[in-house]
Amino acid sequence: MTIPDPSKISFTCSECQAGQLRYKRITYYTWLGNEMITIPDFPAWVCDVCGRREYDQQALNRMNLLLNTQTKRRTPSLKQSSKNNRGGKSISNR
Ligand SMILES: [Zn+2]
Repeated sequence: MTIPDPSKISFTCSECQAGQLRYKRITYYTWLGNEMITIPDFPAWVCDVCGRREYDQQALNRMNLLLNTQTKRRTPSLKQSSKNNRGGKSISNR
């Protein structure tokens, strides 16, 4: 299995429909509470016309996992989407 070289892939920009999103390594900025975090060498897709950025979803997920494990130590109560699917009991409506 060979992973295709991402620098050779480009997408049509969904924002301007004219440019091409090209693979670039950028510095990603995000806020964690009051702290700004910079992640250098972050994979992103940047439009060469309007400058729209799309981030690599896998890299984002990985980063969020990393940030979450770090924030859990500091702030134990993170906002959680409260979907009422507690417990594994299946209720059958027959
Ligand atoms: Zn664009």
